[in-house]
Amino acid sequence: MELQCLKCHYQYESEKIPLTCPFCGSEKSVKPVPSASELLLEAEEAEKKAEEAEKRKQEWKEKLQEK
Ligand SMILES: [Zn+2]
Repeated sequence: MELQCLKCHYQYESEKIPLTCPFCGSEKSVKPVPSASELLLEAEEAEKKAEEAEKRKQEWKEKLQEK
């Protein structure tokens, strides 16, 4: 997986997350970088949620107009 240090932004490929960054030596600063497909899934989910929120907003608008 792709890993990146949050402190120095050093990015590299490894099978496991190290305790310290191999570049700057910061502890617990190395986190996995989400892959493109994961980012795409996230974006799609956010889009779905936005659509649902828009639908709800529309429903409330209609309800308000009924009165
Ligand atoms: Zn680092």
